[in-house]
Amino acid sequence: MLNPVSILVVTVLSGLMAAAVLGSLLPAAIPGLGLWIGANVLAMVSMLLYATQGHASPLLSILTANQLLAVSLLLVLEGCHRFMGRGTHPVDGYVGAVAVFAGIVYWTFVKPDFDARVAVVSAFHGYLYASLAWMMLRRRPSDRPAYGYYFVAVTALLLCVGHLARGMLYGTGQLTQTSLLQVTPVNIAFMGIGILALPCVSIGMVMLAHDRLAQRLERLANVDDLTGAWGRRAFLLKAQTMLDMSARSGTPVALAIIDIDRFKLINDTCGHATGDSVLTHFASFVEGQLRAGDVFGRLGGEEFGVLCPRTTVSEAAAMLERLRQQLAERGGPALPGVSKYTFSVGVDQHRLGEPLSALMARADAALYAAKASGRDRVMRAL
Ligand code: GH3
Ligand code: MG
Ligand code: MG
Repeated sequence: MLNPVSILVVTVLSGLMAAAVLGSLLPAAIPGLGLWIGANVLAMVSMLLYATQGHASPLLSILTANQLLAVSLLLVLEGCHRFMGRGTHPVDGYVGAVAVFAGIVYWTFVKPDFDARVAVVSAFHGYLYASLAWMMLRRRPSDRPAYGYYFVAVTALLLCVGHLARGMLYGTGQLTQTSLLQVTPVNIAFMGIGILALPCVSIGMVMLAHDRLAQRLERLANVDDLTGAWGRRAFLLKAQTMLDMSARSGTPVALAIIDIDRFKLINDTCGHATGDSVLTHFASFVEGQLRAGDVFGRLGGEEFGVLCPRTTVSEAAAMLERLRQQLAERGGPALPGVSKYTFSVGVDQHRLGEPLSALMARADAALYAAKASGRDRVMRAL
């Protein structure tokens, strides 16, 4: 049975299901999620109020219903701002909501005109969906899969077009009706499209929330907790990718293996916690000096790797020698018992066609030689 009331009821039921799915993600404390759930709840209440048109007072079934739907969309946008880590708010949306409120009051109580109400509300919703699409396309993190962001953007764009078309048709008098629940083919068609809005937007929010969970897990798996450097597995994967790219472009890649000198002594004399602070200090010191594109990872214990694309062994050795001297001049972290520490480096350049393990073995042998010849130095592989 296709009539406006049944469409509204189905929308409410699908909104309930979407809220339940979003609710299951609440323990993950994803920024914006609470607002998205609130948006669903408000939209459902709004649909129920719309369905009472002709029975309940216009104050509830028109004015309140419209405002709740507008606030619901604003909450979706506000949630997206939070999700994207932005401290901003959809201020234009709030201003628009006040203007639309005034319009609805006028065309409901002063000069009742259903078509004018549809035009102004549709234009407003079209604008909000356009800004949602714009935000997804502009603020999409470049290092994450695009699917969820594009899904929300495309959904929002389609809804924007639908709203604008509806607003134009009613606003220019090409379509006309006297109430929302009127059974006309065009009204049913527009409401049929509208029925998809709430579940589609909610599915998009679920996709974004899932991607955030995946991002957290990837971080746990790939990034070393203590130092924030890439873990061994991620470092080796990045190294392989870099070697493949350099083989294609014919550019050199240098690898340095760095080991902190007499680290066991620091642990033994100052305690494990101080040793940890030295590791953290070292990692942030090195990362602060590397170029964009260089890859820095913790290979294990107090041993780190640095990969430098488009860099020869001589350039890499010079860069690490600069680091070594800088650390010697600056001294170590301000910790009791550790005013300075040093490191040794083995460095070499990738040779065409050889596996990563061969390059690592040569850099490792050079590191061993650096240690054997007195530490606190950079050695190139022979
Ligand atoms: P060398 O100059 O020859 O490199 O001597 P070293 O003392 O630095 O090397 P060694 O391999 O003998 O000792 C490394 C120490 O690093 C032993 C291990 O307990 C310590 N270590 C490994 N991982 C961690 C960590 O996460 N935190 C702390 N504090 N110590 C660690
Ligand atoms: Mg060491
Ligand atoms: Mg070591």
